[in-house]
Amino acid sequence: MRVAVISDIHANEHALAAVLEEIDALAPDAIWCLGDVVGYGPAPSRCCEVVSERADLCLIGNHDLVALGSLDAADFNEEAAEAALWTRAHLDERSRAFLSALQPSGKADGAALFHASPRDPVWEYVLSAETAYFSLLATEAPLVLVGHSHVALAIGLDGDELHGGLAPAGTERALDGRWLLNPGSVGQPRDGDARAAWLELDTDDRVARFHRVAYPIERTQGDMRAAGLPEPLAARLAQGI
Ligand code: ZN
Repeated sequence: MRVAVISDIHANEHALAAVLEEIDALAPDAIWCLGDVVGYGPAPSRCCEVVSERADLCLIGNHDLVALGSLDAADFNEEAAEAALWTRAHLDERSRAFLSALQPSGKADGAALFHASPRDPVWEYVLSAETAYFSLLATEAPLVLVGHSHVALAIGLDGDELHGGLAPAGTERALDGRWLLNPGSVGQPRDGDARAAWLELDTDDRVARFHRVAYPIERTQGDMRAAGLPEPLAARLAQGI
């Protein structure tokens, strides 16, 4: 089975469109989304509409939960909280219904999926060897897929030893043994590459390929400024931080 894995779209419809165009050229069997469809960006309802139509499986993320009012925006920094309250006010009913039906973890075709981590599917960031190790220890599936940190990762566990790490554009990994993979973020990458990220998985041939695709960042920034969203959230998109 060939799967396209996307995560952390964050209401960036131009990044989502660019990623889906590349995914469509590959014609995978399924699209899985690891959550945070909304939050930060200017097009929450549009992104919910597209993901609900295109993704075969979708998780809910912490930003989606805050947008629904199921989590308190007080847990966010000032700019994220301001954007979350804006999202809450602008999310249409159809999008609320779509997000409300989702869970922060799931299973599919030999993979365990979590928005954040197996130990805490909503909040824990997997960014260290320790959290990666405990994430793999807490699960049994050969593949553990996480989002949330907006940093593309491929970390393997061989016996008791970890290997791998950051997974920049073009990274390809043979998936022998067990692996924790983070596709990176579609709509707000934070690994220094401003391009939209997605992950191609071949669960038969056991290969992971990490992709990045350019999108018109200035259009998303323009939409954010027009919506009155915090300027630093628009500025950071160009840096990929
Ligand atoms: Zn996120």
